[in-house]
Amino acid sequence: MKFYVMTLFPEMIMNGMDTSIIGRAMKSGIINIETANIRDYTLEKHGKVDDYPYGGGAGMVMQAEPIYRTYEGIKKKIKGENPRVIYLTPQGKVFNQHMSEELSQEENLVFLCGHYEGVDERVLDSIVTDHVSIGDYVLTGGELPAMVMMDSIARLVPGVLNNEDSPVTESFSSGLLEYPQYSRPEEFMGEKVPQILLSGHHAKVEEWRYEKSLIRTFERRPDLLKTYHLSEKDKKILAKYNEI
Ligand code: SAM
Repeated sequence: MKFYVMTLFPEMIMNGMDTSIIGRAMKSGIINIETANIRDYTLEKHGKVDDYPYGGGAGMVMQAEPIYRTYEGIKKKIKGENPRVIYLTPQGKVFNQHMSEELSQEENLVFLCGHYEGVDERVLDSIVTDHVSIGDYVLTGGELPAMVMMDSIARLVPGVLNNEDSPVTESFSSGLLEYPQYSRPEEFMGEKVPQILLSGHHAKVEEWRYEKSLIRTFERRPDLLKTYHLSEKDKKILAKYNEI
């Protein structure tokens, strides 16, 4: 899978991504991240890429032309169909695991990172296929949101994680939050690991984990249960938990 990032701060992207699991996946060639510095594509002799907003108001707006030319440069590299172009913006659809799974099926993804007050609407209209936000707050630029998305998408690409099952059992994949996890030692500050996890009884462990997932979701993210199909058994588990 190949990610292309249009940005004014390419070093921020590469410094942020080139470590740990994603860094290893980049080194082994399973995923590839290429940055394109929008400033390299401006025709303005001093390298300017932004200007005052028409109509007045605070801040600067990233101009259309350098971004369009950056996009054309990327398109030349990607032969075939037009790629999906994601503009990171607080005005977009809020990113979630489902979107991540869908995007992980793409061969190429292009990200456009805005800065300052934002980007000239005309270039957004002409190249962007998806407007995506990482949450209801405003950041200084789209670089961190692009990294958040690439991290989440990349770990779903086969071969990036050592354990292929990991993304299947994790929070959100099943519609529930994940169960609590424990590791050695068996006792920490007087708190013991739940006995069932030491029993070696696989079916019982699975049942315990499912129940914990259900209860944890009910406690922390009850909104997720609105779209989750609760079986009769699930309802009994929650009713019993509510009585406690
Ligand atoms: N004036 C814009 C508005 O009110 O919608 C906000 C611009 S913000 C200061 C600068 C850039 O940061 C945006 O163009 C976008 O690329 C990025 N950004 C900020 N918050 C974001 C968020 N929650 N999700 C995704 N991108 C964000």
